[in-house]
Amino acid sequence: MATALETLQQTFGYSSFREGQAEIIDAVMAGQRTLGIMPTGGGKSLTYQIPALMLDGITVVISPLLSLMKNQVDELHEAGVPAVTLNSTQNDEEYRAAMNSLLNEEAKLLYLAPERLGSEGTYALLNRLPISLVVIDEVHVLSQWGNDFRPSYLNAVGLINNLESAPRVMALTATATERVQADLEAMLHIQHTVRTSVVRDNLTIRIEKGLNKRSKEDFITKYIREHRDESGIVYAPTRKIVEALTETLTAAGINAVGYHAGMPDQARAQAQDDFIYDRRDVVVATNAFGMGINKSNVRFVIHYGIPGSVEAYYQEIGRAGRDGLPSEAILLYAAADLQTQRFFIDNSDNQTPEYQNLQKMKLQEMANYGATQMCLQRYITRYFGEDTPDCGRCTNCLDNRDAVDITTDAQKVLSHVVRMAKSRGGENGFGKTLTAETLRGKLPDKFQWTNLDQLPTFGLLQGTARVHIMSLIDYLIAEGYLRVTGQYAGLTVSPEGVSVLKGERQVKRRQDVRSIDDRVKAGSP
Ligand code: ADP
Repeated sequence: MATALETLQQTFGYSSFREGQAEIIDAVMAGQRTLGIMPTGGGKSLTYQIPALMLDGITVVISPLLSLMKNQVDELHEAGVPAVTLNSTQNDEEYRAAMNSLLNEEAKLLYLAPERLGSEGTYALLNRLPISLVVIDEVHVLSQWGNDFRPSYLNAVGLINNLESAPRVMALTATATERVQADLEAMLHIQHTVRTSVVRDNLTIRIEKGLNKRSKEDFITKYIREHRDESGIVYAPTRKIVEALTETLTAAGINAVGYHAGMPDQARAQAQDDFIYDRRDVVVATNAFGMGINKSNVRFVIHYGIPGSVEAYYQEIGRAGRDGLPSEAILLYAAADLQTQRFFIDNSDNQTPEYQNLQKMKLQEMANYGATQMCLQRYITRYFGEDTPDCGRCTNCLDNRDAVDITTDAQKVLSHVVRMAKSRGGENGFGKTLTAETLRGKLPDKFQWTNLDQLPTFGLLQGTARVHIMSLIDYLIAEGYLRVTGQYAGLTVSPEGVSVLKGERQVKRRQDVRSIDDRVKAGSP
C-alpha cells in the first residue's frame, strides 16, 4: 500500500505535508476518532482524501455546502480519484450514475448533503456499502457555542453512531474556540485533536474607525481603485446595503457584482461563478457568501459593518490569501453598526434566553475588538485560546501615537460603575448606555425610578460628549477593567479594575487628544 506521503506526491502532486496534515492522517489511519482544527486554506481536504485512498471501502464526507461538494468532486476527478455526490439538485440520471458507481464500489468518496441524513433510504443505502470512514466537515455548526449552530446537522452524529460498519470518524473545522472544541470532543467521542495555529502570516489586519455611510463608500471605492484587477470581497450587513453598494461601485467603474440570499438561485450561482472565474473583480455580499468558496487569489476582504462575532469575522477574512500571498482584511468599524447586529439577534428565530445571551456576548467581543489597542491578530488568537506575539503589521501595531495616562478618567467611570451596581444591591450592574448618560449627568425619564441621580458619582464627566464616554467605556471593557455580564449586559468592575480604583495600577491609552478632563478644562469636549 502506498504511504500517505506517496499518495500526496503521486496523486495530488505536492511534495510535502503542511502543518497538521500528517498528524491528522496518522491518527485516523490508527483508528482514532480525530478532530482537525486548521485555518481556512490550511489544507483540510487532503487530510481525508488521502485516507480515503489508503483505506478499503468508501469514505463518506458530510458537508453543509453544496457548492463545495461539486467543486471538490470535479477536482478529484481531475486528480483521477473516483468521487460522487448525492444531493437534491441532481437529476435522475446523475443520481443513478452515482448510485451505480457506489454499488460497484468504484467510487472511493461519497459527498453527502446533510439533508439526506434524515431519510431511511439513505441509511439503507449506506448500510449496504462498505463505509470505512465518515468525515464531518464544517463541524463547528454542530456546537451550540459555535457561530452558526445548525440543529439539523445533528443527524451527522446519529449517522456515525448508527452505521453498521462502525466506520472511522474524522471531524474538521476552521474555527473553534476552546469551548466549541470541548463540546465537539464530547459529542463525537474524539480521541485525538489536532489544532494548528490560527495565525495567517500573509494576512494584514486593519481597522478603520469613525466612518459614516458616505465615507465608508468613499473609502471602499478608493481602496478598490488603488487595487485594480485584484480580487476582493466586500461584506455588508444587509441585502439593502449590498445592492446600494454594488450600484455605487459599478457607477464608479468597478467591475463588481452583488450576492445575497434574497436573489434568485440562478443569479446567485452566476454571481458566484463570475467571481470565482475572475470575470468580476469584486463581490459585494452578505454573509450568505463564501462558506467553502475555494478561490485562492482573493487579495482583500473588506467589512462594511461589524459582523456578529469574532468567529464569523475570522472565518470571513480567512477567505483572503489562501494562496499564501500578502493580503488585507479591513474592518470599517462604527459603533452604531452594533445596532444592526443587535437587531438581527433580537429578531432571530431562536428566542431562548441562552441563545440570546450567547449571541450578545459574542457581539460584545466584537465591540471589544473595535476598542482594543492590543495587536489585532493577538486579540483574535487569544479569543481562540492561543496567544501569539504582536504581528507588527496591524493597525494597532502600527499606531505610533503617544499613550496618554487616563487613570483619572478611568477611575471616575469605574467608581461610578461600582456605585451603580451597589445601588442595585446585586452583582449585575446597569448597561453601558445608562452608565454613560448618568456620567454625563443625565437620567432619562424611564430610568427615574433608579434614583441614580442621587449617587455622588452622578455627572462626574459632565460636559463630555456621549461618544467619548461610550468609547472610554468600550476601551475599559476591551482592556479587561470592566466586565459585561448577565442577561441585560450589565457592567461590573473586574479585579484589574479594582486595582485601578485603589491607585495600584495606571491606565494608558493611545489617543490624539489629552484626557477628557483636560478637554473639558479647555472648553472643547
Ligand atoms: P481548507 O479546506 O483547509 O480551507 P483546502 O483543503 O481547500 O483548505 O486547501 C487549500 C489549498 O491548499 C488547496 O488549493 C490545496 O490543493 C492546497 N494544499 C493542500 N495541502 C497542500 C500541501 N501539502 N502542499 C501544497 N498545497 C496544498
